Amino acid sequence: MLLREVEYARPASVQDAVRLLGEHEGARALAGGQTLINVMKARVASPDVLVDLNDLEELKGIELGPDGTLEIGAMATYSDVIDSAEARARPILGEVCAQIADVQVRNRGTVGGNVCSNDPTNHLPPLLVALAATMTVAGKGRERVVPAQEFFLGVYMTAVGSGELLTKVSLPAGKNDGFASVAIGADGTCIVSAAASQNGGGPRIAIGCVDAVPVLVEPGSTDADTVRQAVRDAELNPPDDVHASADYRRHLAEVLAVRAVEEAVKGR
Ligand SMILES: Cc1cc2nc3c(=O)[nH]c(=O)nc-3n(C[C@H](O)[C@H](O)[C@H](O)COP(=O)(O)OP(=O)(O)OC[C@H]3O[C@@H](n4cnc5c(N)ncnc54)[C@H](O)[C@@H]3O)c2cc1C
Repeated sequence: MLLREVEYARPASVQDAVRLLGEHEGARALAGGQTLINVMKARVASPDVLVDLNDLEELKGIELGPDGTLEIGAMATYSDVIDSAEARARPILGEVCAQIADVQVRNRGTVGGNVCSNDPTNHLPPLLVALAATMTVAGKGRERVVPAQEFFLGVYMTAVGSGELLTKVSLPAGKNDGFASVAIGADGTCIVSAAASQNGGGPRIAIGCVDAVPVLVEPGSTDADTVRQAVRDAELNPPDDVHASADYRRHLAEVLAVRAVEEAVKGR
């Protein structure tokens, strides 16, 4: 289906992008376009103005701070992350990006687009919650930092408000991370995913595809029975659809949480 007529702007600075997004109520940021253009073609979304972020070099950087904090610009693609020497400071990130779809999607899809679309089946939302990432959101004349577990609000809904832009994702130092998923075919959409991080204290586990937002579980121990029980105690109410029943997804959540924790404990 052809796109509905839409205004198009290609700002040269984050400031200009924020101004354009604030000026037009129906404006939407355009990153890799892998999700947005498809939903526009299907007429599920009909923005009046597309604010294309692809000229904003300041959003494409991947930097490692002296304290080991990794900062990933919202417009870094999955391929940028996979190829980045700096991103190897948190190896799980590149490993999970390499599992997303195919090379075309990885070359165009961006970290910012992945989290801002908050499709519950996407790989990065549970990973970033488990890794205790923070998201920097810029608005007119202000910037705020949102913890990942408060960033995801609902299906396709995040803490990025109208007139705002996600500029970067920051990750604290750490190497003890794990990710496990069951997907529809190799490198396909996840049916259930689990990410775990064991970098001081008990493990942080985030389960994807079982709710509108990643479900954070903190069992206090890496013992497999304790992890399973903690997932059971979360009383998940996952969708029941053509790919898996709710019961099967609950079962997968337990199994994958244990696998992700085992991987995190081994470290890299
Ligand atoms: C065939 C196919 C298979 C896929 N399989 C997977 C998969 O297995 N796992 C997975 O995780 N993903 C998968 N995806 C989704 C893919 O990763 C998308 O690229 C991603 O979800 C959206 O990223 P994008 O850069 O294309 O964003 P866009 O489509 O450009 O934008 C998505 C949304 O985010 C908003 N947005 C983008 N950037 C910002 C920003 N900086 N600030 C504020 N709002 C912003 C846009 O306005 C829009 O609402 C698949 C996509 C395709 C086409």
